[in-house]
Amino acid sequence: MMAYKSINFRNLPFGFCHFLLTILNSRRIEKCVTITYFFNKAPHTMPDPIERAADIIASAKRAVALTGAGISVASGIPPFRGKGGLWEKIDPMKVAHIDAFLDDPETVWNVLIKEMKTVLDKARPNPGHTGLADLERLGILGTVITQNVDGLHQKAGNSDVIEFHGSFAWQRCLDCNRRIETSRVDLAQIPPHCRCGGILRPDCVFFGEMIPPEALDRSQHMSATCEVMMVIGTSAMVQPAAGMPFIAKDNGAFIIEINPEPTPLTSRISNLPLLGGAESIMPRLLQAVRQRLASP
Ligand SMILES: [Zn+2]
Repeated sequence: MMAYKSINFRNLPFGFCHFLLTILNSRRIEKCVTITYFFNKAPHTMPDPIERAADIIASAKRAVALTGAGISVASGIPPFRGKGGLWEKIDPMKVAHIDAFLDDPETVWNVLIKEMKTVLDKARPNPGHTGLADLERLGILGTVITQNVDGLHQKAGNSDVIEFHGSFAWQRCLDCNRRIETSRVDLAQIPPHCRCGGILRPDCVFFGEMIPPEALDRSQHMSATCEVMMVIGTSAMVQPAAGMPFIAKDNGAFIIEINPEPTPLTSRISNLPLLGGAESIMPRLLQAVRQRLASP
């Protein structure tokens, strides 16, 4: 194992540090020495990535956000996929496939939909969502493309939300297609029925169903024509969302990624990754953007 030594130059004057470095380099021993500068005020600090992102966003007119489950975790909505996700506990093919629902709507309502309704009835937008709504009010952000079905972007105030997977905020009658807000559905009878007698289903996309083609077309168009794409709370590994950052990048957009941990996008196409939850990053980003807009 390589010898490891850390030299702390915190309390040494810069000139002396430079002298030491020159000696170390001249003796070619830099390969086994990690040299770290710790100045109270470093002479060459890296710019804060949030400040850099604010520079880009404040001057953008056509920004688009692509969001996934990660943005809603702080609102109390657990993700479906990944570690600890719902699909680890229950098999989506048995409860979230359209054939399973049509075969036995009562079971799917009892096992999945009732639980989702309970969680989503209580969920409120967090600062990740409200930050995107603020960016729309500032005339910077146009469209939010989301993989989520929780309706929290609309609740936060975004007016143009493309929902790849439909919306759980609404139920639709299997017979007459009438829509009713999920929060107004009475669970006294399972499955709940429309006033026409038909069974209600969530207005979101079950496994085995098509992504709405108009959602796909519009999101491809918005991705191809945006200046900045903010990828938030998603590793964008699942199609069709996975394609959008690549469409944006291929058409010259700047990609800002906000995720708690690096994702496959981080090294491949993100121009500027901001590591952290959207609920903590967005307020800081908004503050920095507002400062720039206030001082032309
Ligand atoms: Zn009906």
